[in-house]
Amino acid sequence: MITGEGTEMSSYRLLKEVREEVADLLSRLIQIDTTNPPGNETQAAEFLASYLERDDFTCETLESGRGRGDVITRLKGTGEKPSLLLLSHLDVVAANPKEWSVDPFGGLIKDGFVWGRGALDMKSMTAIEVMVIKLLKKRKVKLKGDVILAATADEEKGGEEGAGWLVRNHYEKVKADYVLNEGGGLAIPMGGKSMFTIQTAEKGILWLKIRAKGTPGHGSIPGAADNAILRMNDVMRTLASYKSKITLIPTVKEYLGSVTAEDKTKKKALTSLLKTPSSADRILDELGKKDKFLAEEIRAKLRMTITPTEVKGGVKENIIPSECEAVFDCRVMPGQTPEEAMEKIKKLLRKVGLEKLEFEIIEANQPSESPLHTPLYEQIVDVLKEFDPHGYVAPDMLTGGTDSRFFRKKGVVCYGFQPMQADEPYGEIRKRIHGIDERISINNLVFGTSVLYSVVERFLT
Ligand SMILES: [Zn+2]
Repeated sequence: MITGEGTEMSSYRLLKEVREEVADLLSRLIQIDTTNPPGNETQAAEFLASYLERDDFTCETLESGRGRGDVITRLKGTGEKPSLLLLSHLDVVAANPKEWSVDPFGGLIKDGFVWGRGALDMKSMTAIEVMVIKLLKKRKVKLKGDVILAATADEEKGGEEGAGWLVRNHYEKVKADYVLNEGGGLAIPMGGKSMFTIQTAEKGILWLKIRAKGTPGHGSIPGAADNAILRMNDVMRTLASYKSKITLIPTVKEYLGSVTAEDKTKKKALTSLLKTPSSADRILDELGKKDKFLAEEIRAKLRMTITPTEVKGGVKENIIPSECEAVFDCRVMPGQTPEEAMEKIKKLLRKVGLEKLEFEIIEANQPSESPLHTPLYEQIVDVLKEFDPHGYVAPDMLTGGTDSRFFRKKGVVCYGFQPMQADEPYGEIRKRIHGIDERISINNLVFGTSVLYSVVERFLT
């Protein structure tokens, strides 16, 4: 159920008049296949530019490379209040039509949903942000701060050719005091209430290849050779069993406090975790017996993790291999750097023998965190309270990454916030992101537009 629709629960009006237009806009965006790679976002960027130009917006499309387009437009404010960038990415991950029950690029509107790749991640937010900026103009809202809209390329492959490229090459066009982007906003059912997350932090990435070296030999005389697989085995054991120190960053501290506040079954465990973070593992082992996913999700928010994800070694049944390589997905906490993580890993592996190991960094991204309880944060809290009086807000850290990190690096306050009701089971919605039969309810498009519009209008007037 959409709270507030036809009930007196909401003192804020849902913008039902955008229903058709926002659904149609999302459907048309889905029909432009921007699977990355290769991306081909220019077509979507140009489509949005002409869409907005019909309402007298001046748009700019820029390309980091052939077909890799971004679109930017701006509503000027008087400058008395901060500026706000509404950010989204235009590219999507691949979809295999054979696995889907509908055409992933058909943009089908059926049963109250818009279906297709990007419906959740994140062409819906693009459509919502376009509606918001259009409404601000149509209603001649007297803005005291600039509102900038940027829909960019390449996020699904790391964003270096999209938001990262814009920040490096055209920063003046997207520079703002605040950014609203993906990464939070979906209501999590919590003790009968909705907990809306605002993504205020994200972990950093260190994707690392380690190559173990040895000396080949015959499989029948193991002692005469130096088996690289066994060396890699020691590497894996060392890294997988390493428990880095626990850090409670402000976002996670408040997140845990919020989960605690609304759900009695978890209250005790999380209260004691907050009191004695050093016993977190014991407490989470206990909590895991009741709710394994929650316990492990929380554990990953407390420390750096190192996970082996690929391994290759050996060529034949009877040959002892001289080489074995493995890939590790290491996630770094805000406050640490991938470089520090690399140093730590090498230090841990000294006992395995660094002279027999080679290291190759596949990708490294810095972690980031924005301050909580800024005026924009409080504005979001206030507006949500009116749309869903029983809901509440919690900051959250993603264990993955978004384009927000490019802006946080510049000191910009970034929040991941696409307001959505859990109008299907929460797990179902989560599963469809990058999954099969991705779809969003039209009710949620209206809800998202309404909440975001209210936030922006009130924040900047
Ligand atoms: Zn995304």
